[in-house]
Amino acid sequence: VERTLVLIKPDGVRRSIIGEVISRIERKGLRIAAMDMRTLSTEVAEAHYEEHANRPFFASLVEFITGGPLVAMVVEGERAIEAFRSLAGATDPVSAVPGTIRGDFALEVQENIVHGSDSTYSADREIKLFFPELA
Ligand code: ATP
Repeated sequence: VERTLVLIKPDGVRRSIIGEVISRIERKGLRIAAMDMRTLSTEVAEAHYEEHANRPFFASLVEFITGGPLVAMVVEGERAIEAFRSLAGATDPVSAVPGTIRGDFALEVQENIVHGSDSTYSADREIKLFFPELA
């Protein structure tokens, strides 16, 4: 069974749509294998987004993702990585199709409510970073 790391980012927590996001994951048939609420340190945030270290928005992204509590979870199921990315919708919420999480709840590319691992390699790396006891 495949596993993916999902984050409900601080904007999603601030807007009180944790339940909405969890509900969509569960209704899809995916299972939540681990979950907690935490505020990321700069170190963990930089490690999580290391592939974006040279992008102009990196500092702003790290500030945003550390700016309040987020919900971190390990989600599992058949093709969980792709299944969750379909639920999330396109990175840019304006392009994200209505019916997806970003398509329904977001308008700005940085504050796009959720994160989901984009490959089995990323999922392994991110689960080790967030839930080392499960890796
Ligand atoms: P995630 O990795 O969070 O699931 P993604 O894989 O859809 O998102 P990436 O291209 O990996 O998107 O970007 C990671 C995150 O960086 C995005 O989710 C968004 O919060 C932020 N981001 C991406 N592009 C921009 C941008 N041009 N300006 C500001 N923030 C951005």
